[in-house]
Amino acid sequence: MTFSQLAVYFEKLEATSSRLSLIEILSDLFKHSHKDEIEKIVYLLQGRVAPFFSPVEIGMADKMVAESIAQAFGISKEEVIKENNKKGDLGLVAFELAKHKRHKGKQEELSVSSVFESIKSIAGTGGVGSVEKKITALKELLEHMDEVSSKHLVRIPLGNTRLGIGDPTVLDGLATAKLGDKTNRKLLEKAYNETSDLGLIAKTLWSGGLDAVKKLTVTVGRPIRSELCERLPNPTKVFEKMATPHPEPSPTRGEGYMVGVHCTPKYDGFRVQIHKNGDHVTMFSRNLENMTHMFPEIIEGTLRQVKAKTVILDSEALAYQPESEEFLPFQETTKRRRKHNIEEMAKQLPLKTFVFDILYCDGKSLLDTPLIQRTEILKKAISGDEILIPAPGQILDKPEQLQILLDDSISKGLEGVVVKRLDSKYEAGGRNFNWVKLKRHSAGELQDTVDCVILGYIYGRGKRTEFGAGSLLVGLYDKEKDEFVTVTKIGTGLSDDEWREIHKRADKIKVDHKPARVNAIIEPSVWIKPEIVIEVLADEITRSPIHTAGMEIKPKVEKVDRQLGYALRFPRLVRFREADKRPEDATSVSELVKMYREQGRKV
Ligand code: ATP
Repeated sequence: MTFSQLAVYFEKLEATSSRLSLIEILSDLFKHSHKDEIEKIVYLLQGRVAPFFSPVEIGMADKMVAESIAQAFGISKEEVIKENNKKGDLGLVAFELAKHKRHKGKQEELSVSSVFESIKSIAGTGGVGSVEKKITALKELLEHMDEVSSKHLVRIPLGNTRLGIGDPTVLDGLATAKLGDKTNRKLLEKAYNETSDLGLIAKTLWSGGLDAVKKLTVTVGRPIRSELCERLPNPTKVFEKMATPHPEPSPTRGEGYMVGVHCTPKYDGFRVQIHKNGDHVTMFSRNLENMTHMFPEIIEGTLRQVKAKTVILDSEALAYQPESEEFLPFQETTKRRRKHNIEEMAKQLPLKTFVFDILYCDGKSLLDTPLIQRTEILKKAISGDEILIPAPGQILDKPEQLQILLDDSISKGLEGVVVKRLDSKYEAGGRNFNWVKLKRHSAGELQDTVDCVILGYIYGRGKRTEFGAGSLLVGLYDKEKDEFVTVTKIGTGLSDDEWREIHKRADKIKVDHKPARVNAIIEPSVWIKPEIVIEVLADEITRSPIHTAGMEIKPKVEKVDRQLGYALRFPRLVRFREADKRPEDATSVSELVKMYREQGRKV
């Protein structure tokens, strides 16, 4: 396939505002992709030349890309920047220039593979003179491009492909193109949960078929999609739903009594999945971002405290003072998620990481090993507790014990506890009743916050017009449909500075039509790409005729009969979560519906 053919698909994907047509376009694209190029096409769709978790960065900011454009089209960089200030997108600037100006010669078509390799080598260029080399390499590519190709090529190094395609939609596209059957799509999903690499899955499916995909499994160095928690209202409900036999005698009831749950404190930091391969350590966030360079002390701790040659650990890192047993608040810990001044921050705010699970040890995946056995392996795998603090948890056999641990965690300033089924396997990417979080309950409020995605903003009146927004239209993620639906508008609880900040961020991701994966009845003044995740506290969840969360739209003979959706009442912003959450990590509609059913019940 030529790059210009691929760019035509990009153009169609960008223009559509329906998710179904996203899948159709993708499926058509994949059907026309050869087995040697499908992997590359999948990465390019994500605006990358490697899987998301790989730390490959193309390393060209606006100014460098502007210079390449200037050189390719024979105008000054200042002119390019001036145009960019007007259009707000260097892709569009390149499009216009390519449309109106002819390059000097060099019009032969480049294949997707050769463009991919060129961009990859731009990413790999380093050292003295690398800025010039990158600029020249991109300029040379641009000299071969028509206007549509120029537009989409330029957006890749800028990390701004504007296609808005979620990973489940890519999986749908792959399945539609190759398999056509829901059961088999599940196999792709499993491979995705265990490898986090859509390019690899596509390549394997195209070259070895479904049997080869079934064999894809956990590898040290590739993140496993994290298992997440469901919610239950109180310890009694937890025992009713989750208690399972365990092999140990009960501490309170002696031999022969056999049911229990597993419990650990819920640490309020951020998830770190640690991969050790010999003396090489890599780390990943909950949203699969490579965080290896951020936490040198965790690398050191892993090398010192873990004997096994290959290991994958699941943990929660936070600033903690062991002497006083003091957990620092999330706002402190989160200062460590940065790309610069790492060594200095590591000294100022050293992290510990509480290791609560082990997913791989000495060449063997432990995903199918029951939790109770994994915790035994975990206890043996870590020596000492200087930086990696083992958190193998406790087995409880009565709701009263769970209540005591919950109260204890809260009194230590923690969020609550996480309860797990003793017999459960590690379900990569799963959120079900194998893991449940129990949190503090404050009267009049929901038992938990909700993570929302900002979908657009509505112009305000009076003082707020200064900041360009009166309220934010926010939504949730519908996992089953891979789309974003609206759940409330937020107008209060934001300081002037926060409004300014949101406005600044939102303006960079404004789009001129409703994004394809957004399903809404309310039309905001400005749509933005669903990217900014915020944590919201609300008083209650109500049914709503205008919000699309949980709303089925059923066509009737003559009219469209809209069911009610769900909405958040009296929402207020608690904090920004985009550092550790992707939009698809927002609270899902099915979680909201469960919270609706649970609300009001006392702990
Ligand atoms: P919240 O918004 O309530 O912090 P969340 O949306 O980030 O939760 P949940 O699935 O609700 O994610 O809770 C699981 C998260 O809790 C994990 O991703 C992990 O970061 C954190 N966590 C803290 N302690 C534990 C533990 N002992 N076991 C598992 N996860 C834990």
